Amino acid sequence: MGEMTKKQYDVAIVGGGPAGFTAGMYAVRAAMKAVLFEGASTVSQITMTDAIENYPGLGGANGLDLVDNFKQQALGFGLETVADDVSEIKRIKLDGKDAWEVIVGGESYQALTVIFATGANWRHLGVVGEERFIGRGVSFCATCDAPLFRNRDVAVVGGGDTAIQEAIYLTKFASKVTVIHRRDRLRATAILQQRAFSNNKIEFLWDSVVEKVDGLDLLQWVEVHNLKRDDYTRLSVNGLFIFVGLNPNTGLLHKMVDMDEGGYIKVNATMQTSANGLFAAGDCVAKQLRQVVTACGDGANAAYSAQLYVEDLKGESY
Ligand SMILES: Cc1cc2nc3c(=O)[nH]c(=O)nc-3n(C[C@H](O)[C@H](O)[C@H](O)COP(=O)(O)OP(=O)(O)OC[C@H]3O[C@@H](n4cnc5c(N)ncnc54)[C@H](O)[C@@H]3O)c2cc1C
Repeated sequence: MGEMTKKQYDVAIVGGGPAGFTAGMYAVRAAMKAVLFEGASTVSQITMTDAIENYPGLGGANGLDLVDNFKQQALGFGLETVADDVSEIKRIKLDGKDAWEVIVGGESYQALTVIFATGANWRHLGVVGEERFIGRGVSFCATCDAPLFRNRDVAVVGGGDTAIQEAIYLTKFASKVTVIHRRDRLRATAILQQRAFSNNKIEFLWDSVVEKVDGLDLLQWVEVHNLKRDDYTRLSVNGLFIFVGLNPNTGLLHKMVDMDEGGYIKVNATMQTSANGLFAAGDCVAKQLRQVVTACGDGANAAYSAQLYVEDLKGESY
């Protein structure tokens, strides 16, 4: 392939989270011409939490600082970044070779391979009043909003790691935190469960779901449905923090790659999707454990696969 023009790259990376920045760092260190699009209207999920205790070697890291460290490290090796949303990805030919066109802020970028690392977004409950009270009591981010609920009563919906971790964090501010969980036990890891059960500010409503969110201008109460007793009660709260799982940000690749029923991208052990030359990494892929450490591992793996793919395409493999 001839000399690359300004907007032609070996690899285009979509997503500025742990997976994307790790892929970016590995790509530039492997002497690939790489650009990373980090999104303008969304941020990495990990910026939503104040303390990451389980990232090896950096116990207690703040989420914002951690992503910034990933970014600075990759920039230091020469990664180019663009702070804008990718709106379209299409297959094209470049000098007769299979390639990709990535549309970002109305501009076209061309790359021989793409690494897709757009992460996921928190799922909404879909109940009456939820959308209306977002920013008026309903929140998906304890780190962002917990200080607004100093000495107030709040509820957390969910029973996984994120829900319990954030419930514990909320006790630093709120007077009481009620965890509402649809099952009769938590899914969170044992250490988090122990901490939550021994925290006297946390109460539990088991076998229960939120059916309605209401108030005047600000949130005042939620209607809780006990599924076992089949009764309904009103719980007075000023804040409702919802942590009921994730939806992958994979709409851009709809019908372009194979996905599972949840919309997560299917990849093989080299992070190759069903589309040749398109790799995926991090929380947007179909896998068991969605964490920073696995996202970074995926990113490194995807970048190495992209490197082999590009070398092969250019006839440089050895
Ligand atoms: C509250 C909370 C607490 C958590 N706590 C922990 C923890 O303690 N330990 C742990 O290991 N994990 C934790 N996680 C999970 C962790 O945040 C994720 O596993 C990790 O961030 C996944 O990284 P990623 O790079 O795949 O995706 P993300 O970090 O979500 O990054 C995705 C990136 O893609 C970008 N993007 C999306 N769409 C586009 C587009 N169209 N164009 C351009 N860019 C786009 C976004 O802006 C973002 O930069 C927590 C998550 C949450 C929400």
